[in-house]
Amino acid sequence: MSGGTVRTTCPYCGVGCGVLATRNADGSVAIAGDPDHPANRGRLCSKGSALGETLSLDGRLLAPSIDGKRAAWDDALDLVAKRFADTIAEHGRDSVALYVSGQLLTEDYYAANKLMKGYLGSANIDTNSRLCMASSVAGHKRAFGSDTVPGTYEDLEQADLVVLVGSNLAWCHPILYQRLSDAKAKRGTKVIVIDPRRTSTCEIADRHLAIAPDSDVALFNGLLVTLVGAHATRRDYIERHTTGFKEAFDAASRMSVSAVARATGLSQLTLREFYDLFARTERVVTVYSQGVNQSVTGTDKVNAIINCHLATGRIGKPGMGPFSVTGQPNAMGGREVGGLANMLAAHMDLADPKHREIVQTFWGSPTVADSQGLKAVDMFEAVRDGRIKALWIMATNPVVSMPQADRVRAALKACPFVVVSDVERHTDTTALAHVLLPSAAWGEKDGTVTNSERRISRQRSFLTVPDEARPDWWQIAEVAKRMGFAGFAWQSPSEIFAEHAGLTGAENNGTRDLDISAHAGITPDAFDALEPFQWPQPAGEDGREARFFADGRFFTPDRRARFVPTAAANSVTSDHRLRLNTGRIRDQWHTMTRTAKSARLAGHIAEPFVQVHPDDATRLGLQAAGLAMLSNTHGTVVLRVQVTDRVARGQCFAPMHWTDRFASNARVDALVPANVDPISGQPALKHAMVEATPFPARWFAFAASVDQPVTSGADYWALARGKHGWCAESAGGDDLLDPRVLLARSWPAAGGKCETLAYHDRARGEARFALFEGDRLMAALFVGLRPVACARSFIADQVGQRFADTAGRYRLLAGRPGADSPDAGPIVCACMEVGRSAIIDAIRGGNETVEAVGAATRAGTNCGSCRAEIGAVIHAARLAHAS
Ligand code: SF4
Repeated sequence: MSGGTVRTTCPYCGVGCGVLATRNADGSVAIAGDPDHPANRGRLCSKGSALGETLSLDGRLLAPSIDGKRAAWDDALDLVAKRFADTIAEHGRDSVALYVSGQLLTEDYYAANKLMKGYLGSANIDTNSRLCMASSVAGHKRAFGSDTVPGTYEDLEQADLVVLVGSNLAWCHPILYQRLSDAKAKRGTKVIVIDPRRTSTCEIADRHLAIAPDSDVALFNGLLVTLVGAHATRRDYIERHTTGFKEAFDAASRMSVSAVARATGLSQLTLREFYDLFARTERVVTVYSQGVNQSVTGTDKVNAIINCHLATGRIGKPGMGPFSVTGQPNAMGGREVGGLANMLAAHMDLADPKHREIVQTFWGSPTVADSQGLKAVDMFEAVRDGRIKALWIMATNPVVSMPQADRVRAALKACPFVVVSDVERHTDTTALAHVLLPSAAWGEKDGTVTNSERRISRQRSFLTVPDEARPDWWQIAEVAKRMGFAGFAWQSPSEIFAEHAGLTGAENNGTRDLDISAHAGITPDAFDALEPFQWPQPAGEDGREARFFADGRFFTPDRRARFVPTAAANSVTSDHRLRLNTGRIRDQWHTMTRTAKSARLAGHIAEPFVQVHPDDATRLGLQAAGLAMLSNTHGTVVLRVQVTDRVARGQCFAPMHWTDRFASNARVDALVPANVDPISGQPALKHAMVEATPFPARWFAFAASVDQPVTSGADYWALARGKHGWCAESAGGDDLLDPRVLLARSWPAAGGKCETLAYHDRARGEARFALFEGDRLMAALFVGLRPVACARSFIADQVGQRFADTAGRYRLLAGRPGADSPDAGPIVCACMEVGRSAIIDAIRGGNETVEAVGAATRAGTNCGSCRAEIGAVIHAARLAHAS
């Protein structure tokens, strides 16, 4: 690419969008969507568009350390190699483990898996992808004999019906949502959303089926029975290409339609309408993600869905098939190289002696693991009880993301030797490392990733690797060499990719789905120039997209697909507690180590929250904009309350992103019990029973400032980047006798150099302060006895600005802009920085469609990630008008 522009791939979700990164003369990086990348065709969502704002070295880990002291690479690597070797010598090969990540590139993953399974001889390597899609892997293997995603993104555009199950595509896979949304506009695709919550994705839904949590198996078993009754199954396909139909049908038939209605909480009429639509529509794609996978019945849910597609023969053809979309950018690449504790490598099976022989021979390794290792939850339990004594964590933050996260923290604290490779200096997990290894970040490292439709794309470096940071594959290789192992002498990621490609072809001959051995001889130059490609290769006969199973041949020994009998779980609970559903928001990624650097992204939702139904809020005494304490035997969190009927009675929703770096107590996975699907080992992260009580705050505060405020004295706090510095919410259960104490505590260095402007309303118990250095506003603080009602985005915008006249300064203390500069409200459109208030104004001005609001405000006219949310604001405004 000319002009200093580098073609690379977004490091966030599993859509795998192509990105153009261009370095500007001032050192900043301009980001744009790659028009030639088949996944996104030039588009990026709000997170992808803001990638250039996340590249600063602020907070980066830039040198190795041992026990908190800076160390030379040689010393750190020697120590890791020695401690792993000593631990194995003393306690056996299963006393060590690697916990890696879907953030790693395929080459990093390959190196880690090779070291663990081929040289250390244990399969104790697992990944945070276990938390994301392990149930899909297990479901695929049970049905197809291989972990194969049959379809392509184009199928969503060629379908007449798309069923989204447990998938908030609008927020979690925004570019796929936009492709579907466009297809719907063009060809009238019907969209059904199956989700206990009314998410933003429902904005394009023809029907939203708000099923009871974890009742998906009942719903799809009911569908299978209905398909048979409606003569909508393909007997010829079932007979020629599958086995086990009768057993699956018998299992599904155990529930009558009325029992399905009771289990799902849907009316029989609603069920009939959905089932009839599915039965009469040939081109159906069923998309599913975390709402299906993160469950104790996740694997059965996957197979209940696949059963319906097998029964109708709707698989492997344009516009039809079951479709698992992955959360992480390289969950699929990790699966390809065997980065899970129950896989071998190159989609080969640990339990198959022939596969073990193929891999060991190819690697020329001294051994190969011959049994499954510990899956994520069991791995940290083994750390806790002392079976694992040396653990290497790469590119993930399990102290936040694992269930029973407090227990994971305690386990790491007690572990004799913890190595963490990361790009960030301060995470909840790096705090517990004995050895810290600085990794190269996105923009600095080279390799490949595979997206949800099996498309392999290059991540290319466009920034110099800073200071002593090094790629993860290099770290693994150096430790391996120090342990005396040959087979790790790679000089570049292209050599690792070539080796991986070669292994996929070893004694394959069409018996395994993954074969990219055409790239086994790839040169570094060819690797540099590698275009995104999809496997299987060569592509299908039409020369465009490649699908699996169009010929009705699967990867089981008899080449037939398997129906799997699935049993519906009893999901109905009658409990005074709330059922907590955890998930993601549109503009943050995982534990916020990168996205929290962008003020634009933080402007969407700046604070951890819990959504509760209005009836539950009344019952439990929870106030909108107040604070709630959620607790159970595993932990406690404190979150801002949103009262909304988007969640059903008896349920609540909270995002999983916030860590101890950005909030006082908001690691919601600390509340989730470590219950797992018995087949996949995936934890049920969407289910925890919690008590919800009002947090007894006596005072509340909002601050915006140039310098980061000190928040540690407050019982509750949440920090976010503001446009010109920081924003902070805080609250306390103590009597704040003098708000000046809070002021002095928040910016201790300001006392000597700032002039303070203050306003007190003693009758209302409110105080407001503005700190000026000369005529520049350094900080503003609003304190009250109730949740602070002020125009937050307006105040955050004023920080760092100059105020020459007194009137302007006093207007600031009013907490609201004058009529000449309206407050934008919380950001809805991150690209154009259009807030909710501006959108409401546009709607009041007669703009009642997303397009009209876009024309009036520019909201939703760039990446389009916010279009569903704009639709929801229009919808809410209509309801408000009608009532
Ligand atoms: Fe990145 Fe957004 Fe594309 Fe996902 S949809 S890969 S987060 S740009």
